[in-house]
Amino acid sequence: MNPVSAETNSTSETTNAHVAAGANAPLEKIALETYVPPAKPSLVGLSRAEIAEQLGAIGVAPAQRKMRVQQLWHWIYVRGAKSFEEMTSISKEMRAQLDQHLTVARPEVVAEQVSNDGTRKWLLRLPSGDSIEKAHEVECVYIPETDRGTLCVSSQVGCTLNCSFCHTGTQRLVRNLTAGEIVGQIMVARDRLNDWAGRVTPTGSRLVTNVVMMGMGEPLYNFEAVRDALLIVADNEGIGISRRRITLSTSGVVPNIIRTGDEIGVMLAISLHAVRDELRNELVPLNRKYPIAELLQACREYPGSSNARRITFEYVMLKDVNDSLEDAKLLVKMLKGIPAKINLIPFNPWPGTRYECSDWDQIEKFSEYVFNAGYSSPVRTPRGRDILAACGQLKSETEKLSVRERQALRAMAMTD
Ligand code: SAH
Ligand code: SF4
Repeated sequence: MNPVSAETNSTSETTNAHVAAGANAPLEKIALETYVPPAKPSLVGLSRAEIAEQLGAIGVAPAQRKMRVQQLWHWIYVRGAKSFEEMTSISKEMRAQLDQHLTVARPEVVAEQVSNDGTRKWLLRLPSGDSIEKAHEVECVYIPETDRGTLCVSSQVGCTLNCSFCHTGTQRLVRNLTAGEIVGQIMVARDRLNDWAGRVTPTGSRLVTNVVMMGMGEPLYNFEAVRDALLIVADNEGIGISRRRITLSTSGVVPNIIRTGDEIGVMLAISLHAVRDELRNELVPLNRKYPIAELLQACREYPGSSNARRITFEYVMLKDVNDSLEDAKLLVKMLKGIPAKINLIPFNPWPGTRYECSDWDQIEKFSEYVFNAGYSSPVRTPRGRDILAACGQLKSETEKLSVRERQALRAMAMTD
């Protein structure tokens, strides 16, 4: 038996054990919470038409509204104003009137952590729909690199889905974020990094240059809010991050994939993770609803994809589960004809998980095969492990970790 087939055999044995364990896992959770708006609404995350509506409600004359919307948009999204008081091009009376009824509030930052590699993580507090229930928390992570700064943004508290290797998936509670709470994460990052138009730098370049919807939650289960938020983030008269620098990652909510291309027009990433339905059913249970063939068909039809705008396929490296050369071969074969990039992600372990990260030499072998087949296959370097900010380690404090879990997490992050 050659080494490759030995690998394959051990993979299928492990796989079967995993499939048995995950076969009855529920496919989706129901969002338990609804959003209860604050008494004074924030303009952050509203479209221009919605801002005009709010202005109408507080008695701003119709003839004035368009101009006021333009001024507000500029102050909020170019200058990063945190209060109406700062908006000096608007009359004092009007500022007072705005302040009486509205805000430009963003989510409250409850903690900021800076990793030794420069990664920053913010814990944001969001109101819960239930006054007895304690407030929710989501995380937002900034990853600086030499040529870019990427912000990893969340779309839900927890996640509707239950991928078996993902820490967020184990969280019971789910609430969809509003468009304001999604845009608010970018606002908060820019506030904390002092990254607004007034910032004086030698190059004048922005710190947050890219946005990835890869934090907590499944963005395509919160489609409208994510769409409205990303349209604001991409708006040229505001934050102005180009759609080519915004990536939405989905575990494969097929009906909303084409809508993403048509209605948002951002780059797409697919959490593939397995090349056979049997294994993917267990790793990404949503596969039972939208199997691999349907998912890949949606990718083939993704509006705007081309060799210059490739779809990223994410593939988490799980030891003896999906990391054989046989898997690599099938992966290359099945992506034929799709303008694709392959992103290999070393598994980030969390307490209680039944998976392990593949050995480095196996990741290298896998990556080499994929590379030789013509795909650039960057292995995503885990960032911010010491502050638990790496993919799949995001789990808010809503569900308190035990002291033991905390210690285990810390130990893992330090020694990994
Ligand atoms: N829900 C979306 C986006 C958030 S997850 C999705 O699943 O695509 C962002 C990426 O991190 C996904 O590719 C996800 O599969 C991956 N991921 C989740 N848990 C992980 C873990 N423990 N280690 C490595 N990657 C993980
Ligand atoms: Fe949700 Fe994505 Fe985690 Fe799956 S991998 S549970 S879809 S956050």
